[in-house]
Amino acid sequence: MYVDVAVCLPLSRTFVYKAEEQLESGSRVLVPFRKREIEGFVIGSRNEAPDIEIHPITRVIDSSPLLRPEIFELCRWISKYYVSPLGEVLKAALPPGISARHIGRGGQGGRPLVPLHSGVQGTRGRPPCPPRPVLTSDQSRALDAIRTVTGFQTILLHGVTGSGKTEVYMRAAEDFLAADKSTLILVPEIGLTPQLTEWFSDRFPGKTAILHSSLTKRQRIDEWLRIYAGEAPIVIGTRSAVFAPLENLGLIVVDEEHETSYKQEEIPRYHARDTAVMRAKLAQAAAVLGSATPSMESFHNAESDKYRHVALTTRVEDRALPNVEIINMREEYAAAGKQVIFSQRLLQGLAARLERREQAMILLNRRGYAAFLLCRRCGFTFQCSSCSVALTYHRTIDKLLCHYCGLARRPQARCPECDSEYIHYVGEGTERLEAELMKIYPDARIGRVDRDTMRHMRDFERVLGGFRNGDIDILVGTQMIAKGHDFPRVTLVGVIGADAPLAMPDFRAAERTFQLLTQVAGRSGRGREPGEVVIQSYFPDHYTFQLAVTQRFEDFYARESRYRKGMFYPPFTALAGIMVTDRDPARAAALAREVGEFLDSVRSKTVRILGPAPAPLERIKKVHRHQLLIKSASRATLHHMLEKLQAYVEEKKIGGTRVIIDVDPVSLL
Ligand code: ADP
Ligand code: ZN
Ligand code: ZN
Repeated sequence: MYVDVAVCLPLSRTFVYKAEEQLESGSRVLVPFRKREIEGFVIGSRNEAPDIEIHPITRVIDSSPLLRPEIFELCRWISKYYVSPLGEVLKAALPPGISARHIGRGGQGGRPLVPLHSGVQGTRGRPPCPPRPVLTSDQSRALDAIRTVTGFQTILLHGVTGSGKTEVYMRAAEDFLAADKSTLILVPEIGLTPQLTEWFSDRFPGKTAILHSSLTKRQRIDEWLRIYAGEAPIVIGTRSAVFAPLENLGLIVVDEEHETSYKQEEIPRYHARDTAVMRAKLAQAAAVLGSATPSMESFHNAESDKYRHVALTTRVEDRALPNVEIINMREEYAAAGKQVIFSQRLLQGLAARLERREQAMILLNRRGYAAFLLCRRCGFTFQCSSCSVALTYHRTIDKLLCHYCGLARRPQARCPECDSEYIHYVGEGTERLEAELMKIYPDARIGRVDRDTMRHMRDFERVLGGFRNGDIDILVGTQMIAKGHDFPRVTLVGVIGADAPLAMPDFRAAERTFQLLTQVAGRSGRGREPGEVVIQSYFPDHYTFQLAVTQRFEDFYARESRYRKGMFYPPFTALAGIMVTDRDPARAAALAREVGEFLDSVRSKTVRILGPAPAPLERIKKVHRHQLLIKSASRATLHHMLEKLQAYVEEKKIGGTRVIIDVDPVSLL
């Protein structure tokens, strides 16, 4: 027989090979391809030989497909919707290193993974799973809405911070389990949501599987096999867990659905939230998207009745939402006669917390000690030699680091341009914040959470566990501390440098800022004592800050919608980004022009094209980047253009890695 094979390469077309045996769609094979051997998936078969020279497949890797038909279908949808080669999508749907042999081999899967705390700290500092509380009336209504879904339906579970969404997820999973249906829960990042994972493992012992990036290859395969064998009908995982081989799916939950980490930033560039909704549709299951700050896209879908909007408007036990205050840093500057890191209000607040033995969190979304080094005499800044960004100074290791490529170099005492010694450290990061706080409050116990201090899962456990136990008074961190955590003794949250995300060259800057502020504010006042939030800004009049004070999402949505409609941006249009790259700057620019001209030649009148223009980050790891944005009122029209572009790129042998198509992009840098 002859089989059509989707090879695991950035190529959309398929290739025909000869096979000795009958092979089902989804079977994995090794095939000769341009003097190499490459993995591919059988996606169809025929009996007549085509009119060209046909090679036999080298060997069969899995004769029975590891991908369930439903997942295979899902992959086809991803491939089409995201204009991603099917072979690459199918490959991404399986854990690396798995093969059909694992399944045949006696017993099923491995032992259940011991959840995250895995012995390093024992159960110390571990948030205990709460007993099944009496549900609030909001929670009961939400649970009823999920329970009564028949067939496929998407619910936007829009619950203010501290409204008890996790308990709703657990009750719903319990219901589906009783009806012999499985549940898939997607979370943005496991390390940041240990609580949810542990609560589920406690509530459903032995039935929960966990899939995330910190697992070893072997652990991942074992967890996957437990799911495949039906031993773990409840799966919690990050992005790629959307492909978990669950059968009888009843419910998919996407927690913190607005999080950008659900978008994969390499081929295949799928959005796990939207893919989850499609999976629920294929399985005729309920999809629940949970958030206190829904994405503009999801809220728009709820507004237009594509999703059902279910609100949790009150915190559990009628706790009040925290009181949010914006501090005008220009006034602080005027009063102090110089730039200050902490406002008087925040300092008073911290002192009061230390005295009352309550806890505080301070968010600054920049790691390192100083954002960049500047020569005060000639204006020279230390830039990365491979990327178009300034190097960040890290004091603990006394190095200048590039946050994009990892380049490290020693800071110099003198300016390499003018030899002056007036090198100035500009813009503080979390490392500096920690050091300053230690100076101001020498007796306080201060912890720091950022990419530098959180290298392993056990680092999270140590610091977050310590904070939970009361061994830490003030926790400083990047956006890592903004999400999901439930620390009842936190009564003050400070936000430093709140203006920075607003200045990003991205149409979602205001949305991101509003989400970050609301989420971090939501960490305050989750216990008996009411919470307070202090946001420091140089532009306190900006609507994002004014609306963050009220924490009324609907008002923000209405305000932001006007801007998005006016500017022809999502959720009111379909958007795609095209990134054109080359190591040679002139070639990158020329190729971008070529792509632009091609798109122009196939566009319809209703489509708007921005660019080509150098990307905001013009160079990363020595690769030059140019960008085009395509906005279209009709998704079908957009799709049609992208397929033509894909065909053009392949026909001209430009290479799928030099022209990158990104459908529904979340990062425009
Ligand atoms: P959210 O994710 O909505 O911010 P969580 O799920 O983290 O909120 O819940 C916040 C806290 O409320 C948790 O400590 C949880 O145990 C508790 N909780 C949840 N439901 C109830 C309830 N019905 N009564 C009392 N406490 C509850
Ligand atoms: Zn200089
Ligand atoms: Zn770099």
